[in-house]
Formats: sequence, C-alpha cells, structure tokens
Amino acid sequence: MARITIENLVKNYGEVKAVRDISFEVADGEFVALLGPSGCGKSSTMRCICGLEEISAGTISFDGKPVNDVRPRDRNVAMAFETYALYPTLNVYENIAFPLRSANWPNERLAAKVKDIVRAMELESILDRLPSELSGGQAQRVGLARALVREPSVFLLDEPISHLDTRQRHRMREFIKHIHNELGYTMIYVTHDQEEAMALADRIVVMHEGAIRQIGTPDEVYNDPPDDFVAGFVGEPPMNFIEGSIVRADGKWMFRAKGQTVALPDRWLAVGERLPTQVRLGIRPFYVEPSLDPNAPYDMRGEVFLSENLQDLGIVSIDIEDLRLQVVTAPSFRPARHERISLKFNPSYIRLFDLGSGKAIRPEHI
Ligand code: ADP
Ligand code: MG
Repeated sequence: MARITIENLVKNYGEVKAVRDISFEVADGEFVALLGPSGCGKSSTMRCICGLEEISAGTISFDGKPVNDVRPRDRNVAMAFETYALYPTLNVYENIAFPLRSANWPNERLAAKVKDIVRAMELESILDRLPSELSGGQAQRVGLARALVREPSVFLLDEPISHLDTRQRHRMREFIKHIHNELGYTMIYVTHDQEEAMALADRIVVMHEGAIRQIGTPDEVYNDPPDDFVAGFVGEPPMNFIEGSIVRADGKWMFRAKGQTVALPDRWLAVGERLPTQVRLGIRPFYVEPSLDPNAPYDMRGEVFLSENLQDLGIVSIDIEDLRLQVVTAPSFRPARHERISLKFNPSYIRLFDLGSGKAIRPEHI
C-alpha cells in the first residue's frame, strides 16, 4: 500500500487551466473521493497521479518519494476509467486475466483469482464474449474487474460505474467498499455523484474549476460546507438558498427576505451586529417542516407549486414570490397546487453565507 501526497499540482493544456495548484494527501489505506461537477479537473488530477499525463508544476509522491519522473507502469497503480480500453481481440475472461498473465502468475493461482472476481462482479455468463459484444455497463464492469484483479499499491477509479443502471451501481458500490474494507487498499475514486462519494469515501475532496473547495469527511462536507458552492453541490434535493438581509426587529437580530422575517437561531444573536447586512440563508429540504394549518408557527409562508409523490417520500415545491423552495415530506403529505403553506425551519440546520463571497459565516468566527 502507499500514502499519496499531492503538492501544488498544476495541469495546463495550452491555455486551459485544468488543475490550479491543488494539494492533498491520501493516507495509507484510505479511501478518498474526488467530487465535483463535470470539467472541474478530476480526471486530469487522476491522470497526473497515475503518470499518463505530464504535470505542469508541483510534486506527486508515493510514500514520501516523488514519482514525477517514474513511468506509469512502474508506479504500480491499478486504474479503471469511465471508458475502458478493453483489448478488442481478447474475450472477457482473458481481458480480466491479462494483468496477471503479464505479471507471470502461475496458472492455478491466476484461475482462482479471476474466478473470485468474476463471481463477485456477476460476469460468469459473459466470459466468452468479445468487448464488441458487450453493453456499456457490461464493459464497465469488465474494466473494473480487470483493475480490481491486480494487487497494486494504489487504486485509481475514475467514474468506474457511471454507465450501470441504478441497482447494479448500488451492488458495485458495495463490492468496491467491501474490497477496500477487506484488503485495505489506498483508493482514490472520482465521481460527480455526491451520493456515491458520501457512501464510499473516508474523506471527500470537493473540486470546482480546477481548485479544491473542501477536504473533509462526508459528515463535514454535508454539515459544515465552507461556501455556498459546496453547500449547493452536496445533498439531494439541493439546499434551499434565500437571499435577504440581517435586520433588527423587536430588539432581536432577524433575517428578512420577501417581506417576511425569520428568527435567527440563538447562536447568532450575540454576534448579530457583526453579521454582513446581505446574506444568503441556506436550509436543506429535509429540515423544513411544512404545514397546511393556518395557525401553525412558521418562518416563511408561500404557495404550493408542485407536489411530487415518490412513494417513499414526497417532495413539495413552494413559491414565495419569485423564490422557489423545496421540502422533503412524508409520502402521505400531498398538498394541492396553489394551497397556502407554512414552513418552519429547523434552527440547528440554518446556515448563513456571505452574499458577495459565498463564504460560510460561522458564529464562532465572526
Ligand atoms: P473532469 O474529469 O472533472 O470532468 P477533466 O479533468 O476531464 O475534468 O477536465 C478539466 C478541464 O480540462 C476541462 O475544461 C477539459 O475540457 C479540459 N481538458 C481535459 N483534457 C484535455 C486535453 N487533453 N486537452 C485540452 N483540454 C483538456
Ligand atoms: Mg472526468
């Protein structure tokens, strides 16, 4: 296994600045996810780590030793990428066995190892097929199997299950996690899917436009985002944002938007005069309590725009003037369009962000 250290990594393609001076470390045996929207530089970072791409500046080290000048095949990394270059003339079995044959594994040991992985990845029925005879999802599973069959120092997986259907994706996710738990490999896993990152990773590196926005555990990323980009990117349905101002009313600091006021949670009251006047309030859809009772206490009121019944839960969209909020509800809660609705925000989950910079405002830091 290996510890990976990325220091001040820069990757430019001509004028395109794909990775802008990022640094992070992956501990020996740790599972780190690189999470961010398409085009933010995740794959470029991975290709630099495995050596397929020359870096523009910075240092990449394995166990403290720089590998900038080490050839890809000598870095002992196993890779699985979104689009796999399977060997077109080899059938599925031989594609998976290929890394072991190259490493001169004895036949019996090779056969046992391939059999294990084939069973785990449910590939028994397609072992004789050529890559051209596979669906996108099957090809992805074969590519992943070919990577996982090896015993490298580091696994680099770049959107390795993005072409699978939901159920298979879930099974493969379990399997990847299982391999990590059993064998303790150092793994870096690229995904644009925040749920996948949350489910798999010990820590998540959130990227945006070639830069790192946050490095933290799934709990930290979900509960304590440093800015409104991370806050809005992580969580489904996404966090609600409400632009407004901090005002003083009835001797208390309040948040005011769309002509309505929201009492600030207690932790803000002592530092109210130091808050910026213009803020963005963030509250996740899971932490808003809707009510159709006109006498229910509320923070804001609006009108039902849409009520989606997903059977396991409901998602209700509410309009407050030109603002649209979403609320996750019990499936039995099915308000009609245009119904007046009251919303109560759970004060523990109210977040404030600076309207200009987008940075999170934390009561202990102002
Ligand atoms: P991600 O994997 O997060 O979607 P990439 O690392 O693939 O992002 O891409 C980051 C940026 O670099 C994008 O703007 C992309 O268009 C650009 N890019 C990636 N590869 C190349 C390349 N070979 N030549 C030029 N630009 C590239
Ligand atoms: Mg990519």
